[in-house]
Amino acid sequence: AQQESVQVNDLITETTSFVEREASYNNIHIVTRLASDLPTTMTDGPQLQQVLLNLVGNAIDAVGKEGEVTITTWLEPPDKIVVECADTGPGIPSDNLPHLFDPFFTTKDPGKGTGLGLYISYDIVKKLGGSIAAANRKGGGAVFTIVLPVNRFRR
Ligand code: ADP
Ligand code: MG
Repeated sequence: AQQESVQVNDLITETTSFVEREASYNNIHIVTRLASDLPTTMTDGPQLQQVLLNLVGNAIDAVGKEGEVTITTWLEPPDKIVVECADTGPGIPSDNLPHLFDPFFTTKDPGKGTGLGLYISYDIVKKLGGSIAAANRKGGGAVFTIVLPVNRFRR
């Protein structure tokens, strides 16, 4: 994977700007709560952005019309960056939870989903040395959590 100094917060801001139009058209409010102390990390920016775009896209699809998508980042000391993408959609039926990251698993109408987004995202995050997991929120909706290592620059 390509290695460059990446500020994950900036990647998130850029990603949400891509989907802002679609979101506001559907009365979906995208909220970002980005840690001010998040360090940069040596990683593959474009690949990570692909993952973020899929998570936010899925969240918007899940909410449908009217709701909220909240992206939160924080530093888990000493060296983990956590990104959480939570939505106010219907959540994930427990029968589906074990299959979300399988290739071609989709609940979307034909032509609307390939079922490859999370499969590819899982692979990317693993290659970047991190992990990704899905869960339901207590108050309803789904939450996806990515944990990434803080790779310091060295030469
Ligand atoms: P696709 O978006 O093409 O369906 P993904 O791999 O991105 O493929 O997602 C697979 C499935 O996981 C979705 O079809 C949906 O059933 C479920 N899913 C993903 N994100 C969410 C979410 N935020 N809320 C509820 N279900 C979700
Ligand atoms: Mg998807």
